[in-house]
Amino acid sequence: MLADYHIHAAAHGEYKYTREWIQQFLDTAAGRGIAEIGLSEHLEYSELVDWALIEKISSEAKQVKVRLGLEADYIPGQEEITRKHIMARNYDYIIGSVHFINGWGFDHPDFREQFDYCDIDETYQLYFDLVLGMVQSGLYDIVGHMDLIKLWGHRPRRPISSFITPVLKAIRVAGMTVELNSAGLRKPVHELYPAENIITEMFNLDIPVTLGSDAHHPDQVGEDFDILVKAAARAGYNCIMTFAQRCPGKVLI
Ligand SMILES: [Zn+2]
Ligand SMILES: [Zn+2]
Repeated sequence: MLADYHIHAAAHGEYKYTREWIQQFLDTAAGRGIAEIGLSEHLEYSELVDWALIEKISSEAKQVKVRLGLEADYIPGQEEITRKHIMARNYDYIIGSVHFINGWGFDHPDFREQFDYCDIDETYQLYFDLVLGMVQSGLYDIVGHMDLIKLWGHRPRRPISSFITPVLKAIRVAGMTVELNSAGLRKPVHELYPAENIITEMFNLDIPVTLGSDAHHPDQVGEDFDILVKAAARAGYNCIMTFAQRCPGKVLI
């Protein structure tokens, strides 16, 4: 069974939750053999979710099950406000992501240039320190696009394992799941998040996984899942996690 747990139906606020719009996400999923989708809006757009509509669609949908998740940034010092947002709704799962380093939105094209003025190893360290803080905060179920910092193609001088291994060990201790995210293939880095050698290290540590496309449009649901699933299988995975009301379950892929 396949499930796409990283979908932004509202994108960056430009789309509305209408029956017709959500149906397009379900139709793409059905066409690509995906049995379950999870809508996971960014916290700042979570008010755009029409919960009643999704409940209605879920009760009627035959082919594709719909879950409601949330992608919430980890920002040190804002844990309590983040917790309030997370607890305000009956989410099926919470994806924790790092998109900002000290207020720098490093994944936004307008701010990419700042990489040229930073020491790359320091930037990687700052990023993975934040991912570690996110894991240790206990707020989240799933680590989103774990090595997002590579998206423009900047590589550290130090081996990537020196940044990643401590984070993976903390993920293991926290009992969290890591998403395998195909969106990196659409970015200049042209790689999955996380990279395949990291997926192998995750399997060796017995860290469970979800699958996500980071779709911002119906056409992107399940995009490149063939590549994603093959990478998971090469690492040794034959199961993915699903979530209902923040309780994990395991299904075969
Ligand atoms: Zn994200
Ligand atoms: Zn996202």
